[in-house]
Amino acid sequence: MELTKLKVRVKCDNGACANLADYAVKRSGTPVVRELHLCGECLAAIAGLYDGIKVKKTGVKSRKGGKNVGTNMGDRD
Ligand SMILES: [Zn+2]
Repeated sequence: MELTKLKVRVKCDNGACANLADYAVKRSGTPVVRELHLCGECLAAIAGLYDGIKVKKTGVKSRKGGKNVGTNMGDRD
């Protein structure tokens, strides 16, 4: 897979997103009309979603900052 910066102005492929695409995601040999064109916002959002899935799957809690928030264990005092 390859992520390239787009030089042409095309619409972001993410559903209702109205932005222009900044990046093309493609496998080698993908015809240009079948490339996935995404704006920076959508690409970052998708990457974030995938990170979330990975964290859930593996049970690894690797959040930057190291601050442990959101543990509802009920023993605060
Ligand atoms: Zn977008």
